[in-house]
Amino acid sequence: MARFWGGMYGMSSMAAHISAGEARSKASDAKAGVEELSARLDRAVMACEAMWTFVHEKLGVTEEEFVERINEIDMSDGQLDGKVRRPPNACPGCGRAVASRFPKCLYCGALVSRDPFA
Ligand SMILES: [Zn+2]
Repeated sequence: MARFWGGMYGMSSMAAHISAGEARSKASDAKAGVEELSARLDRAVMACEAMWTFVHEKLGVTEEEFVERINEIDMSDGQLDGKVRRPPNACPGCGRAVASRFPKCLYCGALVSRDPFA
């Protein structure tokens, strides 16, 4: 009987070991994904900064006007919280709500006009 339980322990221990290995692999994949996103975000911030310097230098927009516009955009969803929540779009095919991040309706497949900043 002890042998049976010992075998059972070994099996569950092996299952736990496999799960830990899978967890490490997934964690490693997630870390690589975060690092790639971070690098892309850094490039996007640099591009925004470059565009800002052109707007400032060539159009004379002040930093106060720039910050005021950012706050106006932030407040477009009613909250000054550094985020803009986009409301879902109505599907032109079936009328159901489609999250603004999806280009097609999940129910009927119709193309949904997209907010370029969603
Ligand atoms: Zn639809």
